[in-house]
Amino acid sequence: MIISTKRGTPPQEIEKIIRGFEAQGLSVTLIRGTDYNVFGLVGDTTKLDEKIIAANPWVDSVTRVAAPYKKANRLFHEADTIVDAGGVKIGGKEKIAVIGGPCSIEGEAQTLEIARAVKAAGGTMLRGGAYKPRTSPYAFQGLGTEGILDMVKAREETGLPIVSELMSEDRIDEFEEYVDLVQIGARNMQNFQLLKAVGKMKKPVLLKRGLANTIEEWIMSAEYIMAGGNENVIFCERGIRTFEKYTRNTLDLSVIPIIKEKTHLPIIIDPSHATGNWKYVESMSLAAIAAGADGLIIEVHPDPEHAWSDGAQSLKPDRFADVIEKGRTIARVVGRDM
Ligand code: PEP
Ligand code: MN
Repeated sequence: MIISTKRGTPPQEIEKIIRGFEAQGLSVTLIRGTDYNVFGLVGDTTKLDEKIIAANPWVDSVTRVAAPYKKANRLFHEADTIVDAGGVKIGGKEKIAVIGGPCSIEGEAQTLEIARAVKAAGGTMLRGGAYKPRTSPYAFQGLGTEGILDMVKAREETGLPIVSELMSEDRIDEFEEYVDLVQIGARNMQNFQLLKAVGKMKKPVLLKRGLANTIEEWIMSAEYIMAGGNENVIFCERGIRTFEKYTRNTLDLSVIPIIKEKTHLPIIIDPSHATGNWKYVESMSLAAIAAGADGLIIEVHPDPEHAWSDGAQSLKPDRFADVIEKGRTIARVVGRDM
C-alpha cells in the first residue's frame, strides 16, 4: 500500500502515522520529499481499510497495490481449483459442466420429467429453486422442503447431482443433508451473515454475482466463504444491471478471463437470468464456452408459458439439447470436453 501525506504535514504527525502502522506489524518505508512524503507499507495489508487511513486529515492519498483478497487470490494458489459437486468435477480442464432445470420446482412429476430430459440431452446436474427470492411478496415463493425432496427423488432416478438456492441460515441443515451444490443467489451475494454461515458448510457453493456488484466485491464475497473454511466456491455470472432494456440484464463475459487471472476458482455462466429471453440463451452459451467458462446453468421447462417463474427465459428440452450439441463443437476448439 502506498500512502502520501499532504504538503506541510508536521514531522510529529508523520511519526504518529509510521508508529501506527508498525504497531500493526507492517514495515514502513518513508520517502521524504520537499513537498510530499510517501510511505510504502509492506506486510499483510488485507486487514487495512483505505477509507479509515484516508480519514486522517494529513493523508493525501491511499493506493492499494496488493488485492484485498488472499484465499481466492491466484498469486498464492497457482493451480486451478477443481470443485467436486456430488461427483461432478468443475474447473481446471475438466469437462464443461451443464446444469439444467426449472427456475422453480413445481412438484415431483415436473421435476422428474425435466431431470430425465436434462440427462437425455447430456446435462450433468439438475438445478431447481425450492426457496425463491421473488421481487413481489405475492409471487410464488417456492415449495420449500417438499421441492428439495422432489429433487432428491429425481437425483435417485437419474443420478444427476442437484443444485438449489439457499436463502437463509435456518435451512442449512437441510441443504447439508440433501443438496450437492449450494447456490447463493444474486440478491444475497453481500448477505455477509449468510456467507459466513455457508463458510462453515461442507458442501460446495455456487456464488452468483450481485445485481450491481463489481468483480472485486464478488471476489470478496467468495473470500468470506473461504475465510470460514469452505474453499469450494464456484463463481456464477448471471448478468448485471445496466441501462439496457432489450435484455433483462447485461451479460458480462469479460469476467471469465478476469476471474481466471485474479483467482484460482472455477466460473460458470447463467445465460438465462443474464438475458431473460430464451432466444438469446443459445448464442450466449456458445460465447461463454468460447470465452473459457467451466460450465453453464440454464433454465429448462417443457411448458415455459405455464412455468411458475421465469418461463420467458426457459428453454424447452429439445433446444437445451441443441445448445449442448453445438456447445461440444465450440468446447473442442478451446481444448475442452463437454
Ligand atoms: C435463479 O437461479 O432462479 C435465480 C433467482 O437467480 P439469480 O439469483 O441470479 O437472480
Ligand atoms: Mn430463475
